Amino acid sequence: MIHSDLFINGEWVSTSNRHPIYDPSDNSLIAEIAVAGDKEIDSAIDAAAAAFPSFAKIPARVRAEILRKAFEIMVSEADDLARLVSRENGKVFTDAKGEVLYAAEFFRWFSEEAVRINGEFRHSPSGDKRILVTHQPVGVSLLITPWNFPAAMATRKIGPAIAAGCTVIVKPAMETPLTTLAIVDILHRAGLPAGVVNVITPTPAGPAVSRILADSRVRNLSFTGSTQVGKLLLKQAADRVIRTSMELGGNAPFIVLDDANIDDAVAGAMLAKLRNGGAACTAANRFYVSNKIAKEFTTKLTDAMAKIKMAPGLTEGAQLGASVSVKERDKIADLVDSAVKQGGKVALGGLKPTGEGAFYPPTVMTVNSDNDILKEEIFGPVAVVVTVDSDEEAIRLANETSYGLISYVYSGALDRAIRVSEAMESGMVAINRGVISDPAAPFGGFKESGLGREGGFDGIHEFLEKKFIGVTI
Ligand code: NAP
Repeated sequence: MIHSDLFINGEWVSTSNRHPIYDPSDNSLIAEIAVAGDKEIDSAIDAAAAAFPSFAKIPARVRAEILRKAFEIMVSEADDLARLVSRENGKVFTDAKGEVLYAAEFFRWFSEEAVRINGEFRHSPSGDKRILVTHQPVGVSLLITPWNFPAAMATRKIGPAIAAGCTVIVKPAMETPLTTLAIVDILHRAGLPAGVVNVITPTPAGPAVSRILADSRVRNLSFTGSTQVGKLLLKQAADRVIRTSMELGGNAPFIVLDDANIDDAVAGAMLAKLRNGGAACTAANRFYVSNKIAKEFTTKLTDAMAKIKMAPGLTEGAQLGASVSVKERDKIADLVDSAVKQGGKVALGGLKPTGEGAFYPPTVMTVNSDNDILKEEIFGPVAVVVTVDSDEEAIRLANETSYGLISYVYSGALDRAIRVSEAMESGMVAINRGVISDPAAPFGGFKESGLGREGGFDGIHEFLEKKFIGVTI
């Protein structure tokens, strides 16, 4: 069953205003979701605020067990959920299934973290005082998610919020709200009390989000999406000094040093570039390859990309699905077209298909280091290769961006790879690996890629306030 109504205070809430959700691979209608108006938005805030005092006090073990149960349900229903992700997002079933299992892991990880929220008990240097440090849930939190990982971006926020004892209002992207609604249904089957997680789908997003942020009961904003919208929200959050976590855009460099194993680097490049059709904040966007191996690397990458089967996401054997919408696909096509006008050479693909669906083919191109495409997040299956003459040049060009989410480094020598990793201005570095996302590791960016960390031991602290209690003995 596909849920298409709002979820407020433990109940499905219908509205007469509906918004169509299409499958971008064939433009067929999947569902018409309820659009939240001011009344429903206010009800969601009321519900989250009313549920908070009691939810904050229930034992951590109980919160942990709800998350653990939700993890188990999600894994047992992974195929159904993956089909839904694939239909509303366009990604292929294998990517969707991988995402659902990764998403479920956030519930498991944070079920384990819920019971390990630490504190401190210390003696002051003067000896006559005691320093007690404790953590308590920050309160009602607004969670805003993007369309590219509709399952994992939701659980990466909902998991730690529940573990910490917060109540939330979730606003998923309007292209892909159905997955979030399915996940909240799982949480409630797992025993989550009414009002703890509320899902609203307003459109347009701006006024609705402003209304929520202006409410004095809302204490925290966790946003994943573009840097452009993140900056707007940071300004709004500043008006009320709301706590924020920001997981924003990326422009990941993928550096291949001259001593790298080329076949391994190509295999890693295929993962880093094509997972999710390239629509990942972690997607390798710019390949900086040593001049000693650039020709062989580019030829092998082109051969591997040429073998990729592009088809609607649920087609047997499909490896590359549709973009989330024709608008997003056309952005990719425009970036490639203007890179070609600036002298870029296409080795594979580069042409927008004429048929139905938001498809863009696997594309490999070589460009000079001043091509504008290197400044943009491509968000599609386009590998852009730049030849470099030294490690220093690779490092300089890799850091020449306002983003700083993730970098990839391939080298045959660990010491050299670590030296380059330490020079990367990014929150994450993958050495000789095409994927490093891990619920147990801190995910987040430097520079304009964000503030705060999700996952790992840090993730729960985005939903906790630290409190110092002093006492004289
Ligand atoms: P987006 O346009 O910024 O939208 C993200 C969310 O913000 C959606 O729910 C959207 O709602 C909402 N939104 C849009 N305009 C808003 C406004 N004026 N005020 C309040 N909310 C607003 O991003 P996207 O296109 O969905 O996602 C792609 C971006 O997300 C990429 O830049 C990618 O790198 C980034 N991303 C980052 C991470 C990370 O962990 N760092 C992970 C995944 C994605 P509507 O859908 O209703 O417009």
